Amino acid sequence: MQTIADFKRRLAPGVKIHTIYHQKILGRDAKGLVFGDEDKGIRTVNRVLSTQFTLNTMRNGNMIESWMQFPKAKEVKFLDEDTIQIYTEHEGSLIPCLTYKFVNEYGHCRNCGCYCNLEELTDEGFCGSECYDDFFYPDED
Ligand SMILES: [Zn+2]
Repeated sequence: MQTIADFKRRLAPGVKIHTIYHQKILGRDAKGLVFGDEDKGIRTVNRVLSTQFTLNTMRNGNMIESWMQFPKAKEVKFLDEDTIQIYTEHEGSLIPCLTYKFVNEYGHCRNCGCYCNLEELTDEGFCGSECYDDFFYPDED
């Protein structure tokens, strides 16, 4: 991912996202509030609207929807293909607030055993047509 548009495109009901919150208040020191990380676990996207989306979140034993605003371009960094970090302003500077990492579901190719994103495997469970052919027609070349 490189843009907010890429991020929006990947959001869909059922998609899983691992969230780390970076502004859990741990205490206070001479300079002010001290923040730490809180792992929010893997949550499932429930709704995607034009300016916000929701994540299913367990709170006190009940499933609720957490509403998230889409960030502005200046408020994000893309850490890798699956990870976006969102910044918020704190005392005049932008500091990390949330990291969202898309959790891909992986599976093994039935022929070569390679580890693939499930979207890349065929319905029959192969990483490509060559593996399909090798598996069903091993003697042909
Ligand atoms: Zn394969």
